[in-house]
Amino acid sequence: MSVSVRSLVRCVKFRWVSERIRYGGCCLRVVNQVRFYHGNSSTAVRDPGPMHTVDLRSDTVTEPGAAMRTAMVQARVGDDVFGEDPTVNELQKVAADMFGMEAALFVPTGTMSNLIAVMVHCRERGDEMIVGDLSHLHIYEQGGSAQLAGVHSTTLTTLADGTFDLEQLESKIRHGYPDEHYPRSRLVCLENTHNIMGGRVLPVSFLQQVRSIADKYGLAVHMDGARVMNAAVALGVHPSVLLKHCHTVSVCLSKGLGAPAGTMLAGSKEFIQRAMRARKALGGGMRQSGFLAAAGKIALVDMMARLEEDHKNARTFAKALTQCDPPLYHVDLSSVETNIVRFSLRVPGLSPARFCELMEEVSKEEVAALNKGVRVLMFPHVGGTVRAVWHLNVSEEDTQLAIKKAQFVARQFELKSAEST
Ligand SMILES: *Cc1c(COP(=O)(O)O)cnc(C)c1O
Repeated sequence: MSVSVRSLVRCVKFRWVSERIRYGGCCLRVVNQVRFYHGNSSTAVRDPGPMHTVDLRSDTVTEPGAAMRTAMVQARVGDDVFGEDPTVNELQKVAADMFGMEAALFVPTGTMSNLIAVMVHCRERGDEMIVGDLSHLHIYEQGGSAQLAGVHSTTLTTLADGTFDLEQLESKIRHGYPDEHYPRSRLVCLENTHNIMGGRVLPVSFLQQVRSIADKYGLAVHMDGARVMNAAVALGVHPSVLLKHCHTVSVCLSKGLGAPAGTMLAGSKEFIQRAMRARKALGGGMRQSGFLAAAGKIALVDMMARLEEDHKNARTFAKALTQCDPPLYHVDLSSVETNIVRFSLRVPGLSPARFCELMEEVSKEEVAALNKGVRVLMFPHVGGTVRAVWHLNVSEEDTQLAIKKAQFVARQFELKSAEST
């Protein structure tokens, strides 16, 4: 175990907030002072002076800081397809230890990582996996499991907290094999934290219950843990506490952890051997990938502790939305558990897409009222909501600016509606 992993474990013990791991100012980026010329509306400002951007579209937009860039430049590398890249090998060892798994594999993306897991767990054409109907695997990965792996999916209704009903799970398991009418159930997939449901943390009791049902019927459990580090931080537990209930896990290094690319796939030694074959078949065998793994190692070891800040900022923002006057926003505060805030607009005349435009636009009125132009980027999201995501390039001050902008937009919208009636 490296020193850094040990300090991580210590950090977990004393809770995240009390002991932060720092390094070289990489967490903070001086946000670009961009001059932004938006659209051609008559109120758009031509030269509004220093413009500030707060990018809440996704935690994938982060850029590496100085320490991460230095580590990348200085990485020792080799041909990873020959197993000769020392930095990749080290990252894989660190990840396996941290996750409490036998082995881990560095793969280019979370999408490929999930697909490899599905391919290894469901080896026969027509094997079946059971997934949440609002899971990333089912919604956002182009049906790769069907398209490329020949795997059939059956879905469970995703509940608001990212879980699903256990009776429904049991009812979907096929018992007919080898009756030729039925596919063979092989795999249950979980997502933690749950992306579409707004970064919800799966309860440990749920993980235990799913695993015991899977064991009863001889199924594997794969966790799409793209943001499982956020879940561990939110619960104040070591990641292995959550992962021991799964056979395999996929963890993104390029989300809140801030690496430029890369995902860790982990499981048993035998699983990882097969995963290496699948990765090569999918074109994911990279050569001197130690340059990326060097960033990945910093992401995994040093960046986890700071996720707490993202959670805190997300909560501050959500709370401010509930207190906004006029009351334009609806947020269920109890659903804000990690770095994602989903909210809806109380006014039927304002669509999420139009609202996002208003948050992005900077008008003369805004510069006059706030003394500066703040461009806040967010995306319209599933179910008529808007989604905002916190990450290492959004500071506490940025969060306050985003709050001011949200209040400004609410007031402007009220004024404009009053004028037009
Ligand atoms: C981002 C994400 C992925 C996919 O990761 P990519 O690296 O973008 O392919 C998978 N699952 C979840 C839950 C995600 O949020």
